[in-house]
Amino acid sequence: MQEHIVIIGNGISGVTTARHIRKASDKKITIISSETDYFFSRTALMYVYMGHMKYEHTKPYEDYFWKKNRIDLKRAFVKNVDHQNKQLHLSGGEQMSYDKLVLAVGSKPNKFGWPGENLNGVQGLYSKQDLDLLEKNAPNNETCKRAVVVGGGLIGIEMVEMLLTRDIPVTFLVREHSFWNSVLPEGESAMLNRHIKSHHVDLRLGVNLESIQGDAQGNVTSIIIKETGEEIACDVVGLTAGVTPNVDFLKNSGIGIGRGVKVNPMLETNIKDIYAIGDCAEQHEGINGRRPIEAVWYTGRMMGEALAQTLTGNPTPYNPGHWFNSAKFMDIEYQTYGWVFAKPKAGNTHFHWIHKDDDKCITIEMEETSRTFLGINNFDIRLRHELLDKWLTEGRSTDYVLEHLKDANFDPEFYKHYESEILEAYNKAYGTSIVPKKKSWKRIFA
Ligand SMILES: Cc1cc2nc3c(=O)[nH]c(=O)nc-3n(C[C@H](O)[C@H](O)[C@H](O)COP(=O)(O)OP(=O)(O)OC[C@H]3O[C@@H](n4cnc5c(N)ncnc54)[C@H](O)[C@@H]3O)c2cc1C
Repeated sequence: MQEHIVIIGNGISGVTTARHIRKASDKKITIISSETDYFFSRTALMYVYMGHMKYEHTKPYEDYFWKKNRIDLKRAFVKNVDHQNKQLHLSGGEQMSYDKLVLAVGSKPNKFGWPGENLNGVQGLYSKQDLDLLEKNAPNNETCKRAVVVGGGLIGIEMVEMLLTRDIPVTFLVREHSFWNSVLPEGESAMLNRHIKSHHVDLRLGVNLESIQGDAQGNVTSIIIKETGEEIACDVVGLTAGVTPNVDFLKNSGIGIGRGVKVNPMLETNIKDIYAIGDCAEQHEGINGRRPIEAVWYTGRMMGEALAQTLTGNPTPYNPGHWFNSAKFMDIEYQTYGWVFAKPKAGNTHFHWIHKDDDKCITIEMEETSRTFLGINNFDIRLRHELLDKWLTEGRSTDYVLEHLKDANFDPEFYKHYESEILEAYNKAYGTSIVPKKKSWKRIFA
């Protein structure tokens, strides 16, 4: 009989696994999801609310793709996993058996037991249902006269940007004394504070949410700030204080759980024939200096690709290369390659350059004595991923990277380039006299 692989979760990690299993085998594949019928791009949800695209456009594959590729889709919630009998118990009382099970169940927004967190108008931003809810709660600035967004991370700033496109005034509560400064070095974080404020956001730094107040109908009316006791009237509260693996339904299943589902580099759990990938997977120890849980799109995709190989007879550990990520802070694009920490690690130092217009900057983390290049954050200057990755692998010096920075510049020729300015600042800081090399396509594709 054909082996039946069941995948719980139709996000990027589950779907990547299914697609790659199908490429390499004829196995029976079922994907179960309680969220939507079809896979969509979670990272594009914001653009639907902002009117840049329709929900339909967030689906990377046509609806006929799944049938054509013999990937069965099942819309249901898995209530629990009986690994002894290899059975899943679904909402509605149905059961489904599996030979191999892939847990790709993603994350859920954090809630910290704030008084009032379940009032109408209080919501997270994660799922398609959250998008629909935001459309209902904040269609315009008549229904929603003010929104408060709680939590200064990547999803928080997305939600702020979304609400601004409907001319809804926003108060943004950030616990840290500067935006996302647990991740970003001070100069970058400070630039983003100014950027956020320039969009007329009421940015409150260094404050915590005390409670959310509601009326007799259970609708949110205001929030109270812990440190000052100030009450801010609002109709919507966005809770965007991070995410946690969505593993509550697995708690008594016998599958090893920490913060997420515990896996080894082969993405195996403690139970035979059960694997976990994407946001919900937690490595026993981070691989190649990376974090044990990485709730990012690319990680889900890479894990899905590796696991599909293993499940089709080509055992492949998850072995991510250098860390990279990208995001957008309103008008400012951000990319990161390698490791740049908020404060340089012991023995390392930062080189920081910021453009006079206050909307572009870079920070490089390097070893202090050898000036070995360890990572770069770049804001509103696009760089070539493959080249940065190569330089990190080759252990290049920062002098070399800056000398060849023109090769890494991804922007088309007609964009203004900033390499000379960056190099001038670097030469001044380190007493070097590096001259920028002309861009070389030969080197880029070497
Ligand atoms: C608003 C937003 C913006 C983001 N932007 C970026 C970005 O710019 N760059 C980036 O790298 N990352 C970004 N991320 C993170 C990225 O989207 C996630 O890391 C990625 O989508 C996780 O994929 P996944 O397949 O692991 O899980 P998910 O996409 O969460 O999919 C899991 C699915 O499983 C379903 N499920 C869970 N439990 C069950 C159950 N018991 N039964 C049935 N179904 C179940 C869930 O409903 C869900 O549909 C963003 C996330 C959000 C919310």
